Amino acid sequence: MDVPIVDVHVHIQPWDMLRSDVQATMTAQRRPDELTLLRAFLQDPRALLRWMDAQGIQAIALINYSSPDIMGFTDEVNDFVTKFCAVAPDRLIAVGSLHPRFTPNPADFVRTWIDRGLRAFKLHPPHQLVYPNDYLHGNRSLEALYAICQEAGVPVIVHTGTSIFPGARNRFGDPIYLDDVAVDFPNLRIIMAHGGRPLWMNTAFFLLRRHPNVFLDIAGIPPKSLLEYFPRLAEVADRVLFGSDWPGPGVPGIRANAEAFWDLPLPESVRRQILCENYRKLWPL
Ligand SMILES: [Zn+2]
Repeated sequence: MDVPIVDVHVHIQPWDMLRSDVQATMTAQRRPDELTLLRAFLQDPRALLRWMDAQGIQAIALINYSSPDIMGFTDEVNDFVTKFCAVAPDRLIAVGSLHPRFTPNPADFVRTWIDRGLRAFKLHPPHQLVYPNDYLHGNRSLEALYAICQEAGVPVIVHTGTSIFPGARNRFGDPIYLDDVAVDFPNLRIIMAHGGRPLWMNTAFFLLRRHPNVFLDIAGIPPKSLLEYFPRLAEVADRVLFGSDWPGPGVPGIRANAEAFWDLPLPESVRRQILCENYRKLWPL
């Protein structure tokens, strides 16, 4: 495979903030050398960039979000990720969050963090215990998030599908609630992370076909199962993005996933779009 890899879904996060039971789930399947590598990355973004060079990885989005009660991450992750990515903003895309239940001045908060360098906001409904369309029931944080991101051209990445971490509540993972968001904020770029895997792929595909502002990231879906989950993926290939979810549970690695993806029986132009071209629609140079 001689194509640069762009991975829009990597969990480089300040892991020390994690609750210990969550940390155990996280590290259960990681080899000691991988954990050493991850610790080195957190100390120095240049170590990560050197490793990316060696792996043929052009750019990654670093997914961070606050979930103090379920995961342990607080709003401090925004500070971490914006400072970390400032070293090479063309290759390290800073993704942070607003917590939809705990943010007192949501509009100021969103504007401030866009100014400080966040290039996308992540919403994690099963870890933040909120439905993505809760603005219809008075959630002003979500309303501010969507309205300001729409105006500023900043995408919102929404976890869809299940989560196995302790305390996660999976009813919030159904992508159908994004239908309201896509209708009410037609110019907001919404990235459905994980395509509703493993329960709601049909819903996710319907939303992709219905809404031109909805994108899919394939993170967390084993590449060999991707076309079973999304047999008509090529029809929406202009809005599909490669992501690995590394180092999440069960993910072998960024390069390993990219190579397995590259082996799929899809036209080369489609594979190229997904692996390294489409992300520019969301994050132009
Ligand atoms: Zn993820």
